[in-house]
Amino acid sequence: MESKPLATLVIVEHDNQSLSVDTLRALSAASQIQQDGASLPVTALLAGYQCGAVLESLKCVENVSQIIAIDAAEYKHLLAENLSMLVVDVSKDFSHVLAPASTFGKNLMPRVAALLDVGQLSDVVAIEALDTVVRPIYAGNALARVRSNDSTKVMTIRSSAFDPVAVSSSPVVESVFTPDAVFAAEHCEFISQQKIESERPELPAASVVVSGGRGLGSKENFALVEQLADKLGGAIGASRAAVDAGFVSNDLQVGQTGKIVAPQLYIAVGISGAIQHLAGMKDSKVIVAINSDPDAPIFQVADYGLVGDLFEIMPELLEKV
Ligand code: FAD
Repeated sequence: MESKPLATLVIVEHDNQSLSVDTLRALSAASQIQQDGASLPVTALLAGYQCGAVLESLKCVENVSQIIAIDAAEYKHLLAENLSMLVVDVSKDFSHVLAPASTFGKNLMPRVAALLDVGQLSDVVAIEALDTVVRPIYAGNALARVRSNDSTKVMTIRSSAFDPVAVSSSPVVESVFTPDAVFAAEHCEFISQQKIESERPELPAASVVVSGGRGLGSKENFALVEQLADKLGGAIGASRAAVDAGFVSNDLQVGQTGKIVAPQLYIAVGISGAIQHLAGMKDSKVIVAINSDPDAPIFQVADYGLVGDLFEIMPELLEKV
């Protein structure tokens, strides 16, 4: 097997203006990849376009020993097709390549792993050794300890399992390099992006999440969830049934096939607590459930349960908060 320098590469997720909090969490995971009690050197790879502000923030991140930064129009939209070729090229000098298990990382890293002809360690929640990680399986109902013999360990990191790495108020990273080559896939171009703009915090970064389920009955009634989220300065989430019924868009879905969140406070309104939903929120610090069915499975994970009609409880709660 090819032997590589022991070093970790973290792919930076950003919007050309700011670093995602998921990147700070992936960097924290990276610092836990250690040999003889010392972290492997961590390099952050930043590819973007007119992303100088991101580079400046990245320079303030503790635990980063160097930055590889490339500013080119080809990376403006972080297309996985372009970025994966860059990552594969840069990864020659790294034993571990990490990205957050966000939509960005889930889009990019399987492509990287395939191009490198290695397996991917997905949704890592703990790092036990250079070659061994822990990851959830069966929608989070069991944890698997996985050992990889691949020469490059390609991983996506579950953000809710790691605290963000510390950020200094002034730059701490001095080494910044620029790769020579820019990669662009021949058969792929960016056409457009539809993005829902919201004043509310992003789901994965929010410390309070209020989620609604089928029990709300309609898109109009979902306003009760929105009002509570706004009063608490939180983000909105939803069960898949609520998304499928058209109450909200699917980027708000929490669960196995949606977003994984672990806020300080998660309020589930009219959600039964199917395992696929629990997979996305059961690590929340405090869980509150509002449901008329006392036997709803959500109460098994809830710290506080309000059994009753949400159409009575929610207006009262809104008045009192
Ligand atoms: P229901 O299960 O119908 O529950 C509605 C709840 O509202 C009930 O408990 C009811 O008692 C309560 N209720 C009704 N009226 C009131 C009222 N007036 N006051 C108070 N309470 C009331 N689901 C997800 O959420 N996220 C996922 O990512 C996801 N991925 C999936 C992946 C796969 C492969 C599969 C098979 C399923 C997945 N699901 C997912 C679907 C999941 O199995 C459930 O069907 C879904 O979570 C149910 O949503 P719900 O709790 O809103 O609806």
